[in-house]
Amino acid sequence: MEYTHRYPAYPTQEVAAELEHHIDIHRQAYNYTRYEYTHLDADSTGSAYKHHSRLPDWKDEFPVFTEVNAKALQRTVTLFYDNLSNLSQQKENGNKVGNLKWKSPREFQSITYSQHGFKLKNTSGRRATLWLSKIGDIPIRYHRPLPDEADIKEVTIKKETTGEWFVTFALETDEADLPEKPDVDSLNASNSVGIDLGILNYIQTSDGKTVDWLDLEGEYERLRREQRKLSRKQRGSSNYEKQRREVAKVKRHIKRKVEDFQHKITTWLVREYDAVFVEDLDVKGMLEDSHLARNTQDAAWRQFISLLEYKAELYGTHVVQVEAAGTTKECAKCGVETAKSIWVREHSCPSCGFEVDRDANAAMNVLKRGFAELGLGWPEDTPVETALPTDTDSVSAKRVVEAGSLGA
Ligand SMILES: [Zn+2]
Repeated sequence: MEYTHRYPAYPTQEVAAELEHHIDIHRQAYNYTRYEYTHLDADSTGSAYKHHSRLPDWKDEFPVFTEVNAKALQRTVTLFYDNLSNLSQQKENGNKVGNLKWKSPREFQSITYSQHGFKLKNTSGRRATLWLSKIGDIPIRYHRPLPDEADIKEVTIKKETTGEWFVTFALETDEADLPEKPDVDSLNASNSVGIDLGILNYIQTSDGKTVDWLDLEGEYERLRREQRKLSRKQRGSSNYEKQRREVAKVKRHIKRKVEDFQHKITTWLVREYDAVFVEDLDVKGMLEDSHLARNTQDAAWRQFISLLEYKAELYGTHVVQVEAAGTTKECAKCGVETAKSIWVREHSCPSCGFEVDRDANAAMNVLKRGFAELGLGWPEDTPVETALPTDTDSVSAKRVVEAGSLGA
C-alpha cells in the first residue's frame, strides 16, 4: 500500500538558502532535459532510463550539476518524463493540451530525493529532523508519527507560494505487514458503526455519538477580509503580490486545519471500531439539495473517506461504502419510508411508532446496509431500539482530537 505523510519544515535561513540554490539547479536540469529531449536524437533520450545515462556528460560540461545529490538529479530527469506521459494521457482522453513548457523559478519549487540521500532522525514527541545529503539538517513538526512498518520511498521538500516549507514522505507498507482485518462473522452492533455524514458538517454515529465539525467561521471571515483587500490592490504591483501571499496563507491555514482534524477523526474511528460504514458519496451528492455549496462539502467528505480507507488498511478495520438513497427516509426499525423535509430533526415512524433523532436513524440505516453489504444479517438478538442509545452523546471535537492524537 502506498500513501503519503506531509509535515511543515523549518529550515534555518542558511539551509533555506541552500535549498533554494539546489531547487534552482534542479530546475535547470529539468529545463535541460526538455531541451535535450527536443534536440538530441532518440538514442540517448526518449525515456527517463536512457536519459539518466546522459548525466555524467552533463556533469563534465556543467560542474554545477555535481553540487546536488546524484539520485535526486536522476529523479528530476524522471519528473520530466512523468509529466510527458501525463500529458499524452490527457491527449488520449481528448483534452486539448500543449507541449511541456520551460519552467520558470516560480513554477519549480521542489526537489525529490529517491531511495537514498535522506534520513529521518531524532523523532521525539512532535519534533523530528530530516537530513538531506548535500544540504543538511531540517527540523520538521512531526505531529503524526510514520507507521513503524512504513518504508520511506521518497522525500519531497517544497517551498509553497506562501514562503512556507513542507516535507512529504512517499511511503509504502508491505501488504504482509498490515494487520489482519477482524473476521466478518465477529462483527456486531457494538463493534461496528454506521456514519451519517451530515449536510450540516458533522458526523453522527449509529451508537449515538455526534462529532461537531470544526468551527472555521473566524478563518473564513479572515479569508474574506484578505480577499477584499486584494481586490483593491493594483494587479501586478508589489503590494498586490504581498497581499496575494497573505490570501494564500489563510487558505493554506484553513486547509491544514481541516486535514489535521480529518486525520484525527479517521484515526479515532478505525481504532474505536472493527467496521466503519459510510454512505456512498457519488449517490448522496445527487440526492441531496444542491443549494448548500455542495461542491466544497463533497470534496471535504471525499477526502475524509479516502483517509478513512487508507487508515483502515493500516489499522485492520473494515470500511464499506453503502448505498445512500433513502437512509434518511427509511425507518431503521421497520423499513417503511416517510418523506422528511430538511428541517424536520426527528424521525417519527407513522407505521411502527419508532421515534429517534433524524440523523441517528440515518446512521442506523447505514449500519444495517453495511451488514447487508458484507453478507451479514442484522443480528437477531439486537433489536434496533436497544442498539440505538436513548441519549445522544456528543463527543466534543476536542475529545476526538485528543484521542486521535495519541497515534498516527
Ligand atoms: Zn417504522
